[in-house]
Amino acid sequence: MTDRYQTFTRTPLGQALVKNLGLPDPTPLPRWRDGARVIDGPVVFGSIGETDTGKAIQALLRDVGANFSTAAEGVASSELRPKALVFDATGAASTADLSSLQRFFSPVIRQLGAAGRVIVVGRTPELAASPEQQIAQRALEGFTRSLGKEVKRGATVNLVYAAPDAHDQLESTLRFFLSPKSAYVDGQVARIGTGPLVATDPTQPLAGQIALVTGAARGIGAAIADTLARDGATVIGVDVPQNANDLRKVITKVGGSELLLDVTAIDAPQRTAAHAEEHHGGLDIVVHNAGITRDKRLANMRTDTWEAVLDVNLRAPERITAYLLESGALRDGGSVIGVSSIAGIAGNNGQTNYATSKAGVIGLVQAYAPKLAERQIRINAVAPGFIETEMTARVPFAIREVGRRINSLQQGGQPVDVAETIAWFADPASAGVTGNVVRVCGQSMLGA
Ligand code: NAD
Repeated sequence: MTDRYQTFTRTPLGQALVKNLGLPDPTPLPRWRDGARVIDGPVVFGSIGETDTGKAIQALLRDVGANFSTAAEGVASSELRPKALVFDATGAASTADLSSLQRFFSPVIRQLGAAGRVIVVGRTPELAASPEQQIAQRALEGFTRSLGKEVKRGATVNLVYAAPDAHDQLESTLRFFLSPKSAYVDGQVARIGTGPLVATDPTQPLAGQIALVTGAARGIGAAIADTLARDGATVIGVDVPQNANDLRKVITKVGGSELLLDVTAIDAPQRTAAHAEEHHGGLDIVVHNAGITRDKRLANMRTDTWEAVLDVNLRAPERITAYLLESGALRDGGSVIGVSSIAGIAGNNGQTNYATSKAGVIGLVQAYAPKLAERQIRINAVAPGFIETEMTARVPFAIREVGRRINSLQQGGQPVDVAETIAWFADPASAGVTGNVVRVCGQSMLGA
């Protein structure tokens, strides 16, 4: 659905009103287009000392053809309009080193271009070598989250924590955060662990992979099917029989196969596994996207309303995941992705059932991530904020308008923003990315 307010603010009258009344001024966010460059403009790189992580970042910047310079070269004070500022803070060994953040960013931050990117890479605090290092590394979170609120014109700020020796796992994550694929991911922390070194072709990272997407007939699910197919995956689209026509349209466009199935059916796990085995010989990626809302305050909540939401949003992903793992239908090296919600993090009036189910999806990630590591299967979740779909179109006007604006980017996200985040998780090159819950919410104030 279109954001009429944002369209209006791009007109001369709209711009005048925005300026004079101090109204929100959402910058249109560029999205990924085939053939686009990962980063389209100058990059300034800074670091605290020389580290393996810093070397890996610079190698990647060279690889993507970025025109980059280091702060030490004096670029910081030039007239350059950087498209990205990338800072390696893994070398911060104590709070004394935090001075480097101010020294690097203060002179350049105002020059950051529209829809610019700020990425800080730190060391996972819990895996730090000393209490001093842990304190300094943990401090980075406050820095990036605040800077996310300060930067303007559609720019985003994110923090990547890398485990010791995980510098060779950074590539798919940095490509994602640098590019327009992460347009609506702002103020987030991603954690990268060690893992096998898997190289994928960045133009077709999912080539040869079989991906099951539930709720694929419309909205976010249709965008996920589209994006995973763009990246080379063969998609199995799942949706309820009532949405057969819409599902057919999606699968006709992206190829793959369709499975008409209510994910809450008693035999849904077995039917899912059987379909994948019979038609595609197995499964590499599972995206639990099907979801419903049945909003009521708890005092007025009927048992069937409560149960329906828990069954679709939580119990179905739980049962299907367990069976796919146990039966071996999901191959080793695969990827499971849950769709949570910021309501599951922040809670929401009238959504005790929905928020319970969506917090449970986070539980699913946390419970399985360590267990699945031995099979090199990764499990992560996205937590969308306000995304422009039929689900949010049904929200009453005033609440909808507030939902759209109360984030650093002052606009709703698009289904493709959630899909791109899922494609990053699904990429076999993201072998070190597991146990993450990444919000796709434009740094919403809800649950921040
Ligand atoms: P949507 O209602 O537009 O689409 C959901 C799809 O899931 C539909 O095609 C529906 O038929 C399917 N589905 C529902 N129950 C099913 C079942 N029992 N079996 C199989 N398929 C079933 O919703 P959306 O906005 O695209 O949301 C997709 C996911 O994202 C959901 O899990 C939702 O909770 C989550 N989410 C959405 C937003 C948002 O702003 N739109 C925000 C946070 C989270």
